[in-house]
Amino acid sequence: MLIVKKFGGTSVADKERIFNVAKRIADDYKKGHEIVVVLSAMGKQTDILLSMAKDINPKASKREIDMLLTTGEQTSVALMAMALDALGIPAVSLNAYQVAMHTTSTYGNSRIKRIDTERINMELENKRVVVVTGFQGVNKLDDYTTLGRGGSDSTAVAIAASLHADACEIYTDVDGVYTTDPRIVKDAKKLKEITYDEMLEMASLGAGVLHNRSVEMAKKYGVQLVVRSSLNNSEGTLIKEEVKMEKMLVSGVAADKNTARIAVIGLEDQPGVAFKLFNHLSRHDVNVDIILQSVGRDGTKDISFTVNDEDLETAVETIERHRQGSLKCEKVDVEKDVAKVSIVGAGMMSHVGVAAKMFEALYDVGVNIKMISTSEIRVTVLIDDKDLDRAMNAVHDKFFPTQK
Ligand code: ADP
Ligand code: ASP
Ligand code: MG
Repeated sequence: MLIVKKFGGTSVADKERIFNVAKRIADDYKKGHEIVVVLSAMGKQTDILLSMAKDINPKASKREIDMLLTTGEQTSVALMAMALDALGIPAVSLNAYQVAMHTTSTYGNSRIKRIDTERINMELENKRVVVVTGFQGVNKLDDYTTLGRGGSDSTAVAIAASLHADACEIYTDVDGVYTTDPRIVKDAKKLKEITYDEMLEMASLGAGVLHNRSVEMAKKYGVQLVVRSSLNNSEGTLIKEEVKMEKMLVSGVAADKNTARIAVIGLEDQPGVAFKLFNHLSRHDVNVDIILQSVGRDGTKDISFTVNDEDLETAVETIERHRQGSLKCEKVDVEKDVAKVSIVGAGMMSHVGVAAKMFEALYDVGVNIKMISTSEIRVTVLIDDKDLDRAMNAVHDKFFPTQK
């Protein structure tokens, strides 16, 4: 079998963990499997590198930041190849340039376009374990790019798809996908299986266990994923097109702290205002999420919306720049200490009252809802950051009551 195995930062955080992973790889190698390993940077290395950049120059260019960040993954793959060698397993480390992992141009948030398989295949034919850097790619200028935080999962899926691998295993610091973040809700339950669509919603709504684009790609190319622990042998969670289990009403609860709310107050109440506002924002690559418009009164209206924390500054600057021109308004309010809580589940499509049940859970613990957004298979609310843990526990308990 050809197996792609991805290990996250915590799983390779120090010498002991690196050897723990190397031994697991060695066991599979000795069974005769061909193995491609994808690694993240060790422990919190990406965060450390980011703060070093900020310290030197708070306005450092995205190109240079990517140049810096890619060293994190380069360190871990080289050390892993050395560890495998120490165990008597032939291995070679490759970075994105050596593999030729082609991405779009955008620094900091590129997408994988194509992966050359020649070099990897050649190394596999030579019976080597191939250890590849996650999270990075090379653009048409031959510059390094990164795929966005958590992007190593996407590297693994893209490699699995390109090589037509028999399995793609994502090893992390929890032993599968849970009904919600097990670090926040102690009663979270491990899922045996989950569909691509549900996982994609969960990941997009903040369940950091998988990079959302990795799920998107897995669905597109039919790569079945398994999420497992790098520290024990428990079974993990399968992510695939259809699941055998009876559909639950709600498959999970997700949280996202990386969000901010902008309220544009006193806009003119006439056609084209929303278009102008969101058009200016999209031209500056600002991703807008929940949108709420007030009922017009006295010729004015308010529009509030949420953006990712990283986009907040650009969004506010953009609006301020147009306030004197096409986007007249009274004021712009910003709230940073907000978070999103979402429930996700295909079962919602055919049931009424799911949203009400969520709101009831929040009411029970006195959490105020600031914004609401829904789709066929999810309900999202915006709340204060400080209420997040309480809200998550209450909502989770409502849909997944613990048997006492
Ligand atoms: P890695 O470094 O291995 O990629 P991540 O930190 O990116 O690990 O992802 C694993 C983390 O995702 C877990 O430690 C957990 O706190 C978090 N997480 C959030 N939502 C979920 C969920 N629904 N199921 C499992 N883990 C989750
Ligand atoms: N090292 C990168 C990050 O911390 C990529 C990853 O972990 O997947 O975001
Ligand atoms: Mg991750």
